[in-house]
Amino acid sequence: MKEKKKDIRALNKKELQDFFVSIGDKSFRGTQVYEWLWSKGAHSFEAMTNISKSTRQLLEDNFVINHIEVDEMQRSKDGTIKNAVKLHDGFTVESVLIPTYSRTTACVSSQVGCSLDCKFCATAKLKRMRNLNPDEIYDQVVAIDQESRLYNNRPLSNIVFMGMGEPLMNYNNVLKSIEKITSPEGLGMSPKRITVSTSGVPKMIKKLADDEVKFNLALSLHSAIDEVRTSIMPFNKNFPLEDLKDSLVHWYFKTKKRVTYEYLIWKDINDRQKDIDALVEFCKIIPCKVNIIEYNPIDDGIFQQANSQITDRYQDALEKNGITVTVRRSRGKDIDAACGQLANKSSK
Ligand code: SAH
Repeated sequence: MKEKKKDIRALNKKELQDFFVSIGDKSFRGTQVYEWLWSKGAHSFEAMTNISKSTRQLLEDNFVINHIEVDEMQRSKDGTIKNAVKLHDGFTVESVLIPTYSRTTACVSSQVGCSLDCKFCATAKLKRMRNLNPDEIYDQVVAIDQESRLYNNRPLSNIVFMGMGEPLMNYNNVLKSIEKITSPEGLGMSPKRITVSTSGVPKMIKKLADDEVKFNLALSLHSAIDEVRTSIMPFNKNFPLEDLKDSLVHWYFKTKKRVTYEYLIWKDINDRQKDIDALVEFCKIIPCKVNIIEYNPIDDGIFQQANSQITDRYQDALEKNGITVTVRRSRGKDIDAACGQLANKSSK
C-alpha cells in the first residue's frame, strides 16, 4: 500500500532542512521551500519557481500542502468572534477572538473533539477524532490575528489554548505551534502572552517543566476534593490530586512560574464550606492565582451556576489567605463562543 503523503507544513525548518540532506540535497533547499510555505504562502509545489522541476515532483510525491479555511465567522454583540475552521479532511474545529479593553485574545483548539470526559463541557460530547497538526493550530492564530486587525484595528495580544481538545494530549504539535508563533519568522509573539490550559495530566505537566517552556500554564481544577473532581471529571480517577500536586511542585521548582487555577462553581456540587477550604489548602502548594469562571450551561440541566454569594465566599476565603483571585464573566454567549461551548453544531 502506498504510504500516506505527509503534511509538509507540519515540519519545522530544521526538519525540512534535514529532509533535503537525507535525500542528498542541500540543507539550503529546505530553507527555500520553508520560505515558500511560510513567507510566500504557497499553496502548491508548482508555484515554487526557484526549485527544480524534479525536486518539485519529488515533493509532490511525498507531501501535501494543507491550509485551513474559515468556513463560517460569527460576531457577537460584545465583539467576540467565532470561527468555524474547516480542515483539509473535512473536520471542523472552532476558534474564538475575545477583545477586551486592554487585550485581544485568541482562544484556539488543539484537537478535533476531546478524549477527556468532563461532564460539564460541550466538546467532551464529541469523540476525539484526531490531533491537530502544528500548522493547523498556527493557522487558527493567523486567521484570528487578521480578523482582529480588520475589525478592531489592533493585532492579537494573547493566546490561550482553551478551545476544543486537551493540549497536553497533543503535546508535540502544540509545542511546535508555539515555537512557530513565538519565532521571528512566525508571529514573533512573546511566550509570556501564551497560556496552555490543561485538565491536568500530571506526567505531561512534569514534561513541560523539564522542557523548560516559557509560556504560562493554567489548570482546570474545579474541585480540590478527589471524589468531587472524579464525579465531574472522571479521568481524575487515573490522575488523582496527589499526582497533580506532585507535578505542580515539579513545575514550580523548574520554572518558578505560578499557575492559574480555573474554577467553576456549581450548585450542590462544589458550593460547600469544605469545598472552599479544600481549594484554599490546594492553593498553598505553589504560588498560584485563581480564576473563577462563569459556567455556561450546555443544556443538560445537571450543572447549575451557584449563586453569587457562594462566589463571594470563595473570593473572601482566598483573599484572606493572600491568594489572588479574579472573577470572570463570559463573553460571546449569544454565538456559543463562550468557554466550554465549542462543539460546532454541524459535527454533532
Ligand atoms: N482541555 C483543556 C482546555 C479546553 S477547556 C482544559 O480542560 O483546560 C477550557 C476551559 O473551559 C477549561 O477551564 C474548562 O474547564 C472550561 N469549561 C469547560 N466547559 C465549560 C462550561 N460549560 N462553562 C464554562 N467553562 C467551561
